[in-house]
Amino acid sequence: MGFLEYAPSPESTAILHLKKSYGLFIDGEFRKGHGKAFVTISPSTEERIADIANASEADVDAAVKAARRAYERTWSKLSGADRGKYLFRIARLVQERARELAVAESLDNGKPIKESRDVDVPLVAAWFFYYAGWADKLDYAGLGPAPASLGVAAQVIPWNFPLLMLAWKIAPALAAGNTVVIKPAETTPLSALIFAEILQQAELPPGVVNIITGAGDTGSALVNHPDVNKVAFTGSTEVGRLIAKSTAGSGKKLTLELGGKAANIVFDDAPIEEAIEGIVNGIFFNQGHVCCAGSRLLVQENVHDEVVDRLKTRLSTLRLGDPLDKNTDIGAINSRAQLDRIRELSDIGESEGADRWTAECVIPDKGFWFAPTIFTNVEASHRIAREEIFGPVLSVLTFRTPAEAVAKANNTPYGLSAGIWTDKGSKILAVADQLRAGVVWANTFNRFDPSSPFGGYKESGYGREGGRHGLAAYLQSSGWGAKR
Ligand code: NAD
Repeated sequence: MGFLEYAPSPESTAILHLKKSYGLFIDGEFRKGHGKAFVTISPSTEERIADIANASEADVDAAVKAARRAYERTWSKLSGADRGKYLFRIARLVQERARELAVAESLDNGKPIKESRDVDVPLVAAWFFYYAGWADKLDYAGLGPAPASLGVAAQVIPWNFPLLMLAWKIAPALAAGNTVVIKPAETTPLSALIFAEILQQAELPPGVVNIITGAGDTGSALVNHPDVNKVAFTGSTEVGRLIAKSTAGSGKKLTLELGGKAANIVFDDAPIEEAIEGIVNGIFFNQGHVCCAGSRLLVQENVHDEVVDRLKTRLSTLRLGDPLDKNTDIGAINSRAQLDRIRELSDIGESEGADRWTAECVIPDKGFWFAPTIFTNVEASHRIAREEIFGPVLSVLTFRTPAEAVAKANNTPYGLSAGIWTDKGSKILAVADQLRAGVVWANTFNRFDPSSPFGGYKESGYGREGGRHGLAAYLQSSGWGAKR
C-alpha cells in the first residue's frame, strides 16, 4: 500500500430490497413475461443480480394496449396541472429513494457510486421536476396554441445511463400528455424496475407508463408496433438506422439520439489545469460510455507535449476498481461484449501506427475492466479517430490554427457535441459558431441540465431532448400528427 493509499470505503448494498426475479411492468403491475427469462449481472464481479423477464411480441402488444387504454381513458383527460402533480410526486420519490437507486445503478451498470449518486440520480429528479413544471404551461411553450399530445410513445434506451435516459424519455412524454411503453437495455434493467415500484408508490394511473424488459427483438417489436404514435430511441447509429427505415412512412414521429466522436479543442491560451480536468471528465467519466464523450482531443501543437504530460500524471492518480467504493473514479466496463469492442479498436489503433499509453492500474481478477488509455500521434484517417470506441480511450490529434481545429473537429460522420478551451470569449463564440455539433461546451465538458436541449447532427441523429425543445418531440405540430 502506497503512502497516500485510501482505505476501502464501499457503499452498503443493504439498502436494496432486490427480488430474485422481476416481471414486466404492464398496466400498473408486475406480470410474467412469455419470452425466455435472462439474468442481469454485476459487471464488476460477474455475479448474478436477478432474473429478468423477457417480453415476447404478445407481451409487447399487451403493454401497448395498456398504454392506449390509459391514454384514452385517463391520461389525456387529466388537466396539465394534474399531470404535473404526478410528475412532481415521482421526482420527490426519486429523491427519497436516491441512495437505493444509486446503489442499484452502480451494481448493475458498473459506474462509480460517486457518479450515480452525484450525477445520474440528481439529474433524474431534476428532469422530472423540470417537466412537471411544463405540464400545465404547454400553451406557453411557443409550440402553437393548445398543442396536442401524440398518443402512445415507444421508447428504447441504452445501458450507459440507464435511469437518466429513462427520465429523459418519460418526463417530457408524460408532461406533454402521452402514455409510454419503455424498454431498458438488456444489461441494465434493474433501476428501471425499481423505478416501476416508484410509479406504484406515486399511484400513477395503471398503464400510463409500462416498462418491458428484453433485448433487441423486444425493442424491434415495440418500435414496429402499429399502434404507437411516437418512437424515441437512444443507442447505436446502426440500430437507429434500422428504426428510421422501418418507421419511415408509418406516420410515427421519430427522434434518434445516436453515437458521437466529439472533438475537445484545447487552444494554447487555455487555462491548462482546468483543461486537464475537463479532458479527464470528457472521456473518462462513466468509463467513456458516453455518446457525447470528448473522445478526440484536438490540442494546439505548441502545447501538445505539456498537455499530454500533465494528462498522464493526472490519469496515474485515478482509482480503478469496485464501483460501489466511494473513492473509485473508474468503474467496470458494462459488458464483456463492450470490453471486447474496446480492446479490438485499441489494438487496431496500435497496429495503424498510433502510440498507446495506459495508466498503471491493478485490474481486479473478476469482472470487465479497461485502464484509462491515451493514443498520441493519431491521424485523422485512423479508425480510433473516426469510430466511436465507447470506452476510456482518448485519441490525441494536433492543430495549428483555429481554422484547422474547426476543419478537424467537423471531419466526422457524427455531430453530437464538442468542447472549446481558451481564455478568449471571442474565440469561443467564433469557433462554436462553425462547429457542426448539437452541444458545444466552453471551458467545461459533459454538463447537463434539464432546461438545455441536447441532440445531434448528421449520424448522431435528429430531434432534441431537454428544454422546451424536448416537448416538441412529444406534441403534434404542422406536418406531423397522431395516427388516430
Ligand atoms: P444498441 O443500439 O444495440 O442498443 C440500444 C438499445 O436498443 C437497447 O435497449 C437494445 O436492446 C435495443 N435494440 C437493439 N436492437 C434493436 C432493434 N433492432 N430495434 C429496436 N431496439 C433495439 O447499442 P449497444 O449494443 O448497447 O451498443 C453498441 C454501440 O452503440 C456502442 O459501442 C456505442 O458505440 C453505441 N451506443 C451509443 C449510445 C448513446 O447513448 N448514443 C448508447 C449505447 C451504445
